[in-house]
Amino acid sequence: MLHDRDRIFTNLYGFHSPDLQAAKMRGAWDGTKFLLGRGRDWIIDEMKASGLRGRGGAGFPTGLKWSFMPKQSDGRPHYLVVNADESEPGTCKDREIMRNDPHLLVEGCLIASFAMGAHAAYIYIRGEYVAERYALQRAVDEAYEAGLIGKNNIHGYPFDLYVHHGAGAYICGEETALIESMEGKKGMPRLKPPFPANMGLYGCPTTVNNVESIAVAGTILRRGASWFSGIGRPNNVGTKLFCVSGHVNKPCNVEEAMGLTFRELIDTHCGGIRGGWDNLLAVIPGGSSVPLVPAEQIIDAPMDFDTLRGLRSGLGTAAVIVMDKSTDIVRAIARISYFYKHESCGQCTPCREGTGWMWRVLNRMAEGRAQKREIDMLLEVSTQIEGHTICALGDAAAWPVQGLIRHFRHEIEKRIDDYAANPHSESVMIAAE
Ligand code: SF4
Repeated sequence: MLHDRDRIFTNLYGFHSPDLQAAKMRGAWDGTKFLLGRGRDWIIDEMKASGLRGRGGAGFPTGLKWSFMPKQSDGRPHYLVVNADESEPGTCKDREIMRNDPHLLVEGCLIASFAMGAHAAYIYIRGEYVAERYALQRAVDEAYEAGLIGKNNIHGYPFDLYVHHGAGAYICGEETALIESMEGKKGMPRLKPPFPANMGLYGCPTTVNNVESIAVAGTILRRGASWFSGIGRPNNVGTKLFCVSGHVNKPCNVEEAMGLTFRELIDTHCGGIRGGWDNLLAVIPGGSSVPLVPAEQIIDAPMDFDTLRGLRSGLGTAAVIVMDKSTDIVRAIARISYFYKHESCGQCTPCREGTGWMWRVLNRMAEGRAQKREIDMLLEVSTQIEGHTICALGDAAAWPVQGLIRHFRHEIEKRIDDYAANPHSESVMIAAE
């Protein structure tokens, strides 16, 4: 469990003002010049030592990612791009940072950019986040007025920060699609390599980081890498924002220590499962793209990258979607499949064709209008999509389907049996609604 003294986001719920003065009283912008004065290498080494893993879903070590940027410029500018697209269903953590604690993000942008030799950073914020966009722009303007950022700022490192509005496409949360979109093109992922650290925004070295990964940087450097790495479990350290939604009594966003168990998370912050623990069916622990985990496997599991990977799922964005026994699990996954079908950019055949195919088959299965041999066919098709596409949307579409078949094959088979026995029964008709 996380002590209050270890919280980084002390205004997550907006009980206090997000403005500069209040943010400074909470600790933001404290000693930033001193931190920059310790040099680029020190910052990157400290971030590596902290063990921070990217908070956008993949869990790649942040300090290591920063170190991939060229040490010396070859004449091209370097850029930091902050991914504030946050379109993974179930995820709403960056939203609260931008609304209520935006100065932690603005300060983090300066620190990260300094560490990577970037004099300009862009925050790409999703189009639907209108209030957050205004709150963030206000914070950026305040930082300019106070001389904290800008050409001649008090930190002695020329730095400009721009807030860029997206138009609301899920795929623009993929880093290369985001870059394409920022360049004014259609948000379609690029083939990698070249990776953005060599050839990113406008063909220049670029690092794309999640909002939370950047917003925690200032506090980590102020309090020390060992403080951060002392929270949580080995290789899964620090604090993490969890977004809990679905069938809990009090859905919430909360900052907690990485590695607390699912039961602790729900009992302490969410008032328990609706109808009690016996009523829990399954959990999608990291946003809609990770496979679900059935109740008995997740209840006492530590919520961290490695444990959830061991359960053949993932921590992802830590968007915990809880489903109780009232959930029509086949229909729920069919709905997720529809989302990925809708958001596919259409460049790769397996994704463009496969996502729609999976959705149509799952829809039939939700009603029982299928044959049992199609379950293995569906699984086979999902493995033909996974890993065979330009970007991870193909994987994101395949994994929920695989999770469903792995854990709830019996439920699909039961629907098929019920339908075969009585195609016009009430239960079948209800499932079809
Ligand atoms: Fe586009 Fe899907 Fe291919 Fe990604 S996997 S590039 S979303 S078609």
